Amino acid sequence: MKQITVLGSTGSIGRSTLDVVRQWPDRYRIFALVAGHNIDQLAAQVEEFKPQVVVTADETGRDALAARLSGSAHKPELLFGPEARVQASIAPEVGFLMSAIVGVAGLEATYEAIKRGLPIGLANKEVLVASGELVMAAVKAAGTELLPVDSEHNGAHQCLRAGRRNEVTKLILTASGGPFRKTPASELATVTPEQALNHPTWKMGQRITIDSSTLMNKGFEVIEACWLFDFPAEEVEVVVHPQSSIHAMVEYNDGSVIAQICATDMRMPIQYALTYPERATAPVPRMDWQQARQWEFYPPDFEKFPLLGLAYQSVRQGGSAGCTLNAADEIAVEAFLQGQIPFPGIWETVAETLSLVAVSNPRSVAEVLEIDRRSREVARAVVAKRATGTLRRA
Ligand code: NDP
Repeated sequence: MKQITVLGSTGSIGRSTLDVVRQWPDRYRIFALVAGHNIDQLAAQVEEFKPQVVVTADETGRDALAARLSGSAHKPELLFGPEARVQASIAPEVGFLMSAIVGVAGLEATYEAIKRGLPIGLANKEVLVASGELVMAAVKAAGTELLPVDSEHNGAHQCLRAGRRNEVTKLILTASGGPFRKTPASELATVTPEQALNHPTWKMGQRITIDSSTLMNKGFEVIEACWLFDFPAEEVEVVVHPQSSIHAMVEYNDGSVIAQICATDMRMPIQYALTYPERATAPVPRMDWQQARQWEFYPPDFEKFPLLGLAYQSVRQGGSAGCTLNAADEIAVEAFLQGQIPFPGIWETVAETLSLVAVSNPRSVAEVLEIDRRSREVARAVVAKRATGTLRRA
């Protein structure tokens, strides 16, 4: 019986992970559930999965959860905060960590679990985008597996099993193109949060949905792919494929291209990570090959969606550029959702923040978190600038 800690259990990936666990009661057991502020959902998960440890983001959440569970026969250890997230991830009972918190709050726990050689299912983008060099060095040193849950990297992981790394010439990540694929660039200034949150093919958390509409998400995936599979940016290509049926392709040196195809259901990559290197029956819809269908492919529009180009630039710059890119984007997305900046203000804020925060080479997670904090501060000032005046260099 493999025991699992789920970081971000109340989120979209966390809930799908629990759904996979629900299918295999004699293979997997939940050791710890780690979440943020959604106490109602967390309490229901505790009642169902009976974990040994439960962690909330803060003390108020922990107390609220304790009150909610006071009548329950199951009495897990209730903890809160960053240290508890690490504890729940590296306890000796844990045999697999699902890293699915959104943002850098999941970084330290994931990094510590990697250092201890635990197999990791990685959804949390920020782990590699903000800290790829440190994290991959730890993966190598511990000799562990970082199993990508993001559908594109999971697809690439599967395609790469068809040959040797030195036979691969290109990795191709597909993008749905988001809800504004056909919207003229001149109309993007009036796009509303509701329109941006209306993703054509996937149901996901708010941040990643907005990031999909700006193609920032694809940019993050390019950065992640470079770290995860050790590719230079020039060998990672993005192609818009609105049907989202092909998730990734790998081109080999003999011109053969291997594609990974699956319905848009995150339970497939989640289960792949859990059962790897084996496969098991998954409760996901099958492709009906007798049904006529058309698949389209387009080059991405780098001018209309400048964040994709900024992501490639960040890979080439290396060091802390990815960390600042991510932090600035998170602040800009928040500001857009709160109506403080228009849609194009997202990439304008990110570009300006990148120009103001010098690139450095963080040597520890603490340094990464400090750069993240500083970059957010600068991004917040950029957002507020229109009202408050000028900025100084960070
Ligand atoms: P959601 O917004 O749906 O969920 C985020 C989770 O993180 C929630 O459980 C939330 O808790 C938790 N969380 C947030 N802040 C904290 C904190 N400070 N401490 C503890 N927990 C916290 O996001 P998704 O599930 O969509 O995405 C999770 C990660 O996976 C992201 O990095 C995303 O980019 C990546 N990803 C997601 C995909 C998807 O299909 N959804 C696909 C590929 C990657 P609470 O809700 O209780 O506050």
